[in-house]
Amino acid sequence: MTPTTPKKRILSGMRPTGSLHLGHLVGTLENWVRLQDEYDCFFMVADWHALMGEYEHPASVATYSLENVIDWISYGIDPERSTLFIQSRVPEHLELCMVFSCLTPLGWLERCPTYKEQLREVTTRDLNTYGFLGYPVLQAADILVYKGNAVPVGEDQLPHLELTREIARRFNSLYGKNVFPEPAALLTKAARLLGTDGRKMSKSYGNTINLSDDPATIMKKIAGMITDPQRIKLADKGHPDICGVFAYYSFFFPESTGEVRQWCESAGIGCTECKKRLGARLVEKLAPYQAKRRALENDRGAIEKILARGEEKARAAASATMKEVKAVLGI
Ligand code: SF4
Repeated sequence: MTPTTPKKRILSGMRPTGSLHLGHLVGTLENWVRLQDEYDCFFMVADWHALMGEYEHPASVATYSLENVIDWISYGIDPERSTLFIQSRVPEHLELCMVFSCLTPLGWLERCPTYKEQLREVTTRDLNTYGFLGYPVLQAADILVYKGNAVPVGEDQLPHLELTREIARRFNSLYGKNVFPEPAALLTKAARLLGTDGRKMSKSYGNTINLSDDPATIMKKIAGMITDPQRIKLADKGHPDICGVFAYYSFFFPESTGEVRQWCESAGIGCTECKKRLGARLVEKLAPYQAKRRALENDRGAIEKILARGEEKARAAASATMKEVKAVLGI
């Protein structure tokens, strides 16, 4: 019998700050589902990270934590193969974060592009806090406490991952022990689905289609989508490449784009009908996932069991790392 090589481990997470929407599905979830085949996946509800922005109204964090996990499982994350857990239930994240906080120079955090960008752009909350500046340190602890070999990231998150790698190097070199691996970037193709109004899909813009939306809501949201502004009358020929509805066809029904392009450019059918057809197909596509979602919503006990199992596995790995870290530090 040939020994099997253990799968490489990856860590990824989502902040539970709202209902998951189609943007999460094509941007993250579908990728996670694929990664399960190849990697030992740790998927984390990043509730400490959510608290950094929602500290004034923390009640929603716990609600969305469970809601998000229900969506993960409904849309294909398999708790038998992957480890699903809530970050705050594994205290080792904060222990390691403390150690890393001591050895991370302030300049590394202050120069982080996403930190500066968020401080500039987020006007609804005060992010000028100690916790928010240290966001990447906690992120490094999240990954390294499991000795993650790789992290699925979009290009915009590469500077954060580089910081994690720098922190791992600094720890290893300061104490002369190779405790932490330098996790590699698993660059994911940026699948960026825009919102129904053509802007970035975000709950703060009110332009999302949520994974939990019922059929009537989905149809209504699609009916209100922005289309080609030059196509005013039925006889006007359209330009699919600048139309958000066409982009949705390309994401979800790529096999139909030829047909849609043809009817759009020849003014074969109107935008109202085009949107109706998209809405109906989307409702049909999401129906099996939503049925699973409803069943899980009615069985919260099962979700809690899954999370308890995940927590146990996560804690076993995390506490082994902390034991090693404390031994190296002599604490
Ligand atoms: S027909 Fe469809 S693809 Fe063409 S502009 Fe209207 S909504 Fe967009």
